[in-house]
Amino acid sequence: MTDPSETTERRFESNPTVCPFCGVGCSVEYAGRGSATGVEGPVNERGEICPKGAAAFDVVDSDDRLTEPLVRHDGRFVTAPWEAALDRAVEGIGEVVDEHGPDAVQFFASSNCTNEENYVLQKLARVLGTNNVDNCARLCHASTVAAMSERLGAGAMTNTLDDLGEADCILVNGANPAEQHPVAFRSYILPAVRDGATLVHVDPRANDTTEAADVHLPLRPGTDIELLNAVAATLVEEGLVDEAFLDERTTGFDRLRERLVDVDVAANAEAAGVEPEAIREAARAYGEADRAAIVTGMGTSQHRCGTDNVHALLNLALLTGNVGRPGTGVNPLRGQNNVQGASDVGGLPSVLPGYEPVTDPDARERVAAEWGVEPPAEPGLTEVEATHRFGDDVRAAVVFGENPAVTEPNATAVASAFDDLDYCVVIDLFETRTAAHADVVLPGSAWAEKCGTVTNTDRRVLRMRPNADLPGNARRDFDILTALGRRLTDRPEAFDYDRPEAAFEELTRVAPIYEGMSYAGIGDGYQRWPFDADAGRGTEVLHAETFATGERTAPLAVVDPVPPADDLDPDELVLTTGRVLQHFNSGALSRRSDRLVAMRGEDALQVHPSDAAERGIEDGDRVTVSNERGTVEVAAEVTPAVREGVTFCTFHYPEPLANALTGDALDPEAKIPEFKHSAVAVEPAAEAGEGSGATGDD
Ligand code: SF4
Repeated sequence: MTDPSETTERRFESNPTVCPFCGVGCSVEYAGRGSATGVEGPVNERGEICPKGAAAFDVVDSDDRLTEPLVRHDGRFVTAPWEAALDRAVEGIGEVVDEHGPDAVQFFASSNCTNEENYVLQKLARVLGTNNVDNCARLCHASTVAAMSERLGAGAMTNTLDDLGEADCILVNGANPAEQHPVAFRSYILPAVRDGATLVHVDPRANDTTEAADVHLPLRPGTDIELLNAVAATLVEEGLVDEAFLDERTTGFDRLRERLVDVDVAANAEAAGVEPEAIREAARAYGEADRAAIVTGMGTSQHRCGTDNVHALLNLALLTGNVGRPGTGVNPLRGQNNVQGASDVGGLPSVLPGYEPVTDPDARERVAAEWGVEPPAEPGLTEVEATHRFGDDVRAAVVFGENPAVTEPNATAVASAFDDLDYCVVIDLFETRTAAHADVVLPGSAWAEKCGTVTNTDRRVLRMRPNADLPGNARRDFDILTALGRRLTDRPEAFDYDRPEAAFEELTRVAPIYEGMSYAGIGDGYQRWPFDADAGRGTEVLHAETFATGERTAPLAVVDPVPPADDLDPDELVLTTGRVLQHFNSGALSRRSDRLVAMRGEDALQVHPSDAAERGIEDGDRVTVSNERGTVEVAAEVTPAVREGVTFCTFHYPEPLANALTGDALDPEAKIPEFKHSAVAVEPAAEAGEGSGATGDD
């Protein structure tokens, strides 16, 4: 790294761009002295932003930024000129391809980088000859996308943030938008509640969202299906279903009803650890509303039955006719600022840009006409499947702006699996825990140095514009990826873009849902997918007349409970994880901000007072949390906010590394891991010098 004192002063300017954190997509710009300010944008119409957005320039300005390429020499990183570093990267990956074939390489796309960058990365993988490309949507909403795509034909918000305002009831299942999507909560959900909408919150712990809720169902982690089936059974039992909608727009009601009449609401309530009357109250609020919307998050999706959890949620919407109208639908709130777009543009192993299946010969042909090469027909590996096979049939990785050694479950094992690779190239802003295992690290560009587009949680494509020049010898990610494409593949001309806009134009030709969009059309506003090129506008409410499958009807599904993968010993607690207002995901970005770190303070493990008393733990005590995957040490926060038997920790920090404890059992369909239910022992930490200490760190 270059000594920051040696770097020449960087230039900043104010240009409306998009916050790098959550998928809400607030417009921000440089406000001077290292601060961001919200500017009136398509989503934050009054220029409102949350603490994360306000601190967004701290990451841009961080002294920890990589400013020179690094190559490994005698086991240590040394700086290298760009040409030498690119040569080393291409040589290392090329040798693996020559010896083992292109499927021995895994590409990690980035859900906080632009559509254009992710489009180029997935194209690079496919032109090289593999569909082994995935992004961290795999870790957050892969199950949501799988279930919604299968039943409705589109794996995205059915509705818009704006039309949540028309809902009479909002059922928030497994999400905490007050802290995780603050502007969506304050500017869209809360106003609807203040206007009289009933807010039902399904979450194992009480948090800021719960404070605004009329009904809170603090379910045991891993019992969504029991709870949602009980809600569905109540809807049927109490005649709260929409018979006309069921007749005209669904199939399979008779079969589902047969199963639901056998559901014992009281027994399911007991399994879920909630009061039966609270379930009935929630069902009535949802079923009696003229317009009821579901908002869902990772509490629903991050289970080994995540796809089934979402199927159970979709049943509620279809049973009550709450699809295809404003103020209704099923609406996953996406985590990173471009997790929607990274998937839209093909950063997934089974689909091409625009969610066209790789198995579809027509789709492959359409892409081949543009690229000059037909992509492989077999789906590739998901990112967790790949890390499980590092050193086996996966021999190399190109990791672009992601940090799987921290963000994947069973993370200590994942970190050491990186050492089993023959070659690893990382493109990042920092020497992350993943980069520590790389052979070559290429210093890329932060959000405020980028030009391109991102796609927010309600399918709006928004422009990103540079607010800062690059530090030291860091390069724009788009330029790094196109350089790798020109050098690694035998189609260098396919990566000869003169600017990101050219890649976007190509994307609009190969991804039908983006067809007709343009930078000029987006301007300071947005264009929403699916975009109607003739009408010049996107579709706000999906599935109005027909579902995105092209069918008039969608199937109802019988969903049976699936037990969590981790068995729980009587003296163990269930660890569940999540985010808080002041931080974000792996913390790679947010913990570079002194402001955010100071606001939140040290991370802590929430423990219920009864569980704490049983273990002799007092508020603020150091405790060890352990299972067969790892041990971490952390301060205890004794609070009734978590239910008895459950403990909660964020996953924002390398220490404590919560993902050292989380399990890597996968949903069989979506291959999403079971982050939200891990059996752990919690006990007072030994005195300093006697304890095991935290598991691993950079
Ligand atoms: S709500 Fe999300 S997009 Fe908006 S400022 Fe906060 S973190 Fe950024």
